[in-house]
Amino acid sequence: MMMETDDECVVPPCHVPGCRLTVDVVIKTSDAKYFGAHLQNLQNHADGFPPASFGKRKRMNHMDIEEDSEVTSLMLDFMHKQPQPDLRDVPVGRLVDFAEAAEKYLIYSAMGTCRLVMGTQAWALPLTALAYAIKHEYPEVADRAAPHSIGMDWKDVHKELGPTGAVLWGQYRESFLALFRNRGFRSVQFHPDGQAPVCQEILDIQLSTLSFLFGAPEDIVDEYWVGLEMAKVSVHNVCFTCREGWRKWLQELADEAKALPKFSTLL
Ligand SMILES: [Zn+2]
Ligand SMILES: [Zn+2]
Repeated sequence: MMMETDDECVVPPCHVPGCRLTVDVVIKTSDAKYFGAHLQNLQNHADGFPPASFGKRKRMNHMDIEEDSEVTSLMLDFMHKQPQPDLRDVPVGRLVDFAEAAEKYLIYSAMGTCRLVMGTQAWALPLTALAYAIKHEYPEVADRAAPHSIGMDWKDVHKELGPTGAVLWGQYRESFLALFRNRGFRSVQFHPDGQAPVCQEILDIQLSTLSFLFGAPEDIVDEYWVGLEMAKVSVHNVCFTCREGWRKWLQELADEAKALPKFSTLL
């Protein structure tokens, strides 16, 4: 049942299906939607809603928040005793907003889940995930996000990570660049000295792989990509020695990339 509180707001029911708790606070979101909520839940499941943050409108507690209705709906879901939403279904761009809200209001049950899912989804939005990881000190999320960010534009890095984060990122990326410089951009030569001239096609394969890596360096730590690059050699006219040599060369490059210092060692 709706109850009048003031001119602009009626008390909306709780949005959680079947919830029988009394609505004693109205939350207004940034997109001007109203949610009915329960003070007791806000105080039991989070530490970021101090009683002083609520205003009174007539007899009802009232709070304006900066989050939109989608994020607010998730926040309130996590503050009910019920099976919680599967965050893997939330698009990663929205997940970040929710993860930030969970940190801001200290919704502990959501913070842990967000941290896990941000780690597994980090590849999809690496700079945003890295910014979240640096800000809230989640090294394992940083380490999952960082390799996917090394091909990004400095301007975007600076915008997302700020000056301090961008310097750390520059240090991190430098180790990849040094690896490619020292190890990658050297022509491969698999034939033993003095024997038949090197199979020409292996040089073409190397050139195409390295050109690709230059644009998407993060692929060197992606086992699936490395496997595909290795398989490429079998459709080319190269001898057994070059084929095996190429696979070994690429595997060593991938292993060295994986062994580079993790982003978290800079934090
Ligand atoms: Zn409820
Ligand atoms: Zn050969």
